[in-house]
Amino acid sequence: MTNASEMPRKLTILGSTGSIGSNTLDVVRQLGGRGQFEIVALTGAGNIALLAEQARQFGAELAVTAEDDNYEDLKSALAGTGIKTAAGKSGLEEAASMDAGWVMAAIAGTPGLAPTVTAAKRGADIALANKECLVSAGDVFVRTVKQGGGRLIPVDSEHSAIFQCLTGDHREAVERIILTASGGPFRTWSREEMTNVTADVARAHPNWSMGLKVSIGSASMFNKGLEMIEAKYLFDLRPDQVEVIVHPQSIVHSMVGYSDGSYIAQLGSPDMRTAISYALTYPERGQLNVERLDFAKLARLDFEAPDEARFPALRLARTALERGGLQGAALNAAEETAFHAFVDGAIGFLDMADIVETVMDRMDDGRSAGTIEDVFAADEEARRHAGELISTKEKAA
Ligand code: MG
Repeated sequence: MTNASEMPRKLTILGSTGSIGSNTLDVVRQLGGRGQFEIVALTGAGNIALLAEQARQFGAELAVTAEDDNYEDLKSALAGTGIKTAAGKSGLEEAASMDAGWVMAAIAGTPGLAPTVTAAKRGADIALANKECLVSAGDVFVRTVKQGGGRLIPVDSEHSAIFQCLTGDHREAVERIILTASGGPFRTWSREEMTNVTADVARAHPNWSMGLKVSIGSASMFNKGLEMIEAKYLFDLRPDQVEVIVHPQSIVHSMVGYSDGSYIAQLGSPDMRTAISYALTYPERGQLNVERLDFAKLARLDFEAPDEARFPALRLARTALERGGLQGAALNAAEETAFHAFVDGAIGFLDMADIVETVMDRMDDGRSAGTIEDVFAADEEARRHAGELISTKEKAA
């Protein structure tokens, strides 16, 4: 199934009220709105007022809240509009199953995996903003998309950059890919200085405006670690072909190095809407009102080697890449569990990496991921281990 020529493009947004989802609707508006895109289903979680407003404004067929408790609120917010409503896991499945040729997968974290797999199975083109699908399910997820017959188009800015740099070039000539990282708010901090930081301090990103999970992950560099794994599966690379460079200005979004010594980079303002637009219009380009680069004003672009001693997330991601199997699922679930515990104030900032490392070691038994069920089981197991470790740390504190 190929959906590229479908006009208007039928689009479902899984996770429409978050940072990526709201930006996606802004891009849809900029690219011609309802003349160009037909919004099939929108899903959110707790922000019912925004979800209902989006559904009305874009004339969605179905609006879904992931939280069963919010169902009555959503239903009454959309009463009389003719827009169908649903809730919970079954609601997300219903949204993913509906006939939309394009699905923006923007639910943060592991809850995004199941509905994205459902959309991939029926052959939708997947604009992938949820990195957990690839980090956790890797080969299984890529295989599911291939079997379904749809395309996988990255929305993460770094992966969109690489995707754009690879257009028209020979994959076999790719030597390495270089993911850029801003370094986050603690780029120049010592480990001692990071010990007692709170979630409020950690979430303040210098360049990008993003959701909480990605912002904290940017401070710990776990976000970059997840992106290393994401890149490996998305572009079918060996672990040693995936590199990270710190680039504080966030202007070069990533680079590809070729066998003849050429490097192709994609540059732009740090604005997610460019990557979102490319994913929605690929292989075309849309007309987008985002800030243009002023190179004279920028004057310089800086690069520095990442410090894996201060940011163990990068080392752990490389370990997961090299070990393969279900280590990505272990890293992802342990990191997500530790992230919630950090945000809740239960553990310290540096505890997150300790917990992830211990969970990965505990689960390092050479198991491979045959099916998506194996991934879900490994995810659950990693959460159990992480939960134990978190309560041990809480008791010690
Ligand atoms: Mg990114």
